[in-house]
Amino acid sequence: MLPRRPPRSGQVGFLYLPPYRVQGISVAGEQTAVHIPELDVAFDVGLCPRPVLSAPYIALTHGHMDHVAGLPYYFSQRIFQKMGTGTCICHEAIASDVQAMMGGWVGLEKQCTPHNIIPIKPDGEYKIKPNIMLKAIEAVHTVPALSYVVMEHRKKLLEKYAGVPQHELRQLKIDGTDITQTFKIPLVACTGDTQIGDHLFRTEFTNAKVVITECTFFEEEHKKRAAVGKHLHIDDLADLLQVWKAEHIVITHTSRRTTLDQIREAIDARIGCDDAHRIHLLMDHRTNRLRYEKQVEELEKLEGCSFSD
Ligand SMILES: [Zn+2]
Ligand SMILES: [Zn+2]
Repeated sequence: MLPRRPPRSGQVGFLYLPPYRVQGISVAGEQTAVHIPELDVAFDVGLCPRPVLSAPYIALTHGHMDHVAGLPYYFSQRIFQKMGTGTCICHEAIASDVQAMMGGWVGLEKQCTPHNIIPIKPDGEYKIKPNIMLKAIEAVHTVPALSYVVMEHRKKLLEKYAGVPQHELRQLKIDGTDITQTFKIPLVACTGDTQIGDHLFRTEFTNAKVVITECTFFEEEHKKRAAVGKHLHIDDLADLLQVWKAEHIVITHTSRRTTLDQIREAIDARIGCDDAHRIHLLMDHRTNRLRYEKQVEELEKLEGCSFSD
């Protein structure tokens, strides 16, 4: 008898949630990296699936191995593939350890791979695109951890200047009068590994258009384990869904121990059909493929042409 071939693994999950693509791999304890190409950012880089390489920014949620181990490879491959120096944004409390990890590689390789490591304070913001900021929010995990929200800063004319002719507005600006106010709009939020807490009820989370959330435990008897590991349980998610207005919620960091069927069952039982339509599982490749095929079909109908992949 022939020995079996190794199992196929490492398939990248993919969802198109207009206008954003959410792509990556996330399995609790093994690896997590979730990339939003439209926003130039990937949350974590546990290993580095090829599409994640093209993210100019890695927003690191915390330093557990399954979230950070791919970072040196990410920095190195970006240089090898001539994609420019990558940037990692991380909690200020772990920045020196991340830096020290890169220092270890300098010793091993006898060369220094260019890399940027940017410490960020909780509630700090870092500009990743024009008018687009990455905001850090302190999370609660077994190690220093951050949740992130990508915020758009949209400038609007102050109401009292509505209807004022252009040349007068221009003069006001020249005179140094601030005629605008900035609206901060949460686009995509990511919980990272965390237990439930006030941070997840902040307006940045409740108003985000898309929330990428960890949910590691689904069985009733695993509530204690969720508390010990400082992770979210499906019951926590049920509470959060009451306040998160997001059109799309992407569940990541599911465990290999729990099958997709068990996860679906738990979602049906705890969350119900009112919210089920806005919940996606990043690693449910089959459902997500069918969903994408439907999106393609709808676009073809709309445009009256054939769209080949
Ligand atoms: Zn994790
Ligand atoms: Zn963790």
